[in-house]
Amino acid sequence: MEREAMYQKLGISREVLAFGEQVISDLRERFDAIDANAEYNQLKVIAALQKNRVDATCFAATTGYGYDDLGREKLERVYADTFHTEAALVRPQITCGTHALAVALSANLLPGDELLSPMGLPYDTLQEVIGIRPSRCSLKEYGVTYRQADLLPDGSFDYPAIKAAINEKTKLITIQRSKGYATRPSYSVAQIGELIAFCKACKPDVVCMVDNCYGEFVEPTEPSDVGADMIVGSLIKNPGGGLAPIGGYICGTKECVERCAFRLSAPGLGQEVGANLGLLPSLYQGFFLAPTVVAGALKGAIFAANIYERLGFKVIPNGSESRHDIIQAVELGSREAMVAFCSGIQAAAPVDSYVTPVPWAMPGYDDEVIMAAGAFVQGSSIELSADGPIREPYAVYFQGGLTWYHAKLGILMSLQKLLDAGLVEML
Ligand SMILES: *Cc1c(COP(=O)(O)O)cnc(C)c1O
Repeated sequence: MEREAMYQKLGISREVLAFGEQVISDLRERFDAIDANAEYNQLKVIAALQKNRVDATCFAATTGYGYDDLGREKLERVYADTFHTEAALVRPQITCGTHALAVALSANLLPGDELLSPMGLPYDTLQEVIGIRPSRCSLKEYGVTYRQADLLPDGSFDYPAIKAAINEKTKLITIQRSKGYATRPSYSVAQIGELIAFCKACKPDVVCMVDNCYGEFVEPTEPSDVGADMIVGSLIKNPGGGLAPIGGYICGTKECVERCAFRLSAPGLGQEVGANLGLLPSLYQGFFLAPTVVAGALKGAIFAANIYERLGFKVIPNGSESRHDIIQAVELGSREAMVAFCSGIQAAAPVDSYVTPVPWAMPGYDDEVIMAAGAFVQGSSIELSADGPIREPYAVYFQGGLTWYHAKLGILMSLQKLLDAGLVEML
């Protein structure tokens, strides 16, 4: 078979491919459900593009102050209409997801206010933003206090602890949809909706912000459909569709988003400034492609879960659970296995396939981190990538894949490298 010969040419043995095909044959129904969700989300995005009468004039570059940037304004309307929010801030000046979250937090928290995380420690890089780990210019330095309610041992919300933690100072509640570098579950939009309803019942005027990183378009609804005042994410993850070269978004109430714009630029300037520098075509087109790109990434995640589960590894989510983000954690149990897995992902990449990933210290992270990525956009994790901090339980977090076929190749290659290194045995 030509296809099999091509896999062999790329370094995948006949037995690894056969194992993969066997796993895929059991996943057909789930893949159909992913396609149906992508179809719905595709229509949602097209409806928003049409409603806002997007045309070629929206793609023009602006420079300098960027006053009267119609393309920028319409893109923000397209995001707001797709995610059903009053307003949106979608900018290349937002450098990454952490920056978007830092803007959302610092714009809506003032000295004396308290921030609450109802789900234990937030994502690694946010710990310095908040000041959980001492950091210059953290919220803590500006007099914003922080409190958290830990999850119950089974990963569910500890509602009595959350209620006890909400007090007269609590201004904003930060909710993280995706597990990030933790081995807790990711939460469904419905679960997030329940949590928001509970928090608002305790304190009606509390602001609920959702870190939506890796969650966009995984389900037919977003946290903004179930009461979130702000949803925040990165354009080099899901909503950029692999084409956005930089950027972040904050969608939410007019009040919250306007404050974010004043924080991002300057008080008094807000959303009126911010040249698009010619990036709008890729921001629009990436958003248009995002639902199908996310579908490919989801298929890859489910494929990886089923491959490694059958080989006896702990995988989170497990092979049959429903999905709430595009992340797949595989607990490999050793540094060597993490290195082998990541070298497989790297070897399958369209870019930088010849380099070898090694564990390294990274800004914003406490432990050494290994990262495999051969991306068109540096650090893009909607492109096929695997990474993880070198610490117990030696889990790699696998995500992305602009196409399902590339994700499939990457996962087969990771298995091939583990086999070649004698770190796994096939039955
Ligand atoms: C990726 C991520 C972030 C931070 O985004 P960067 O673009 O890497 O700064 C924050 N929270 C979660 C849950 C993430 O997955």
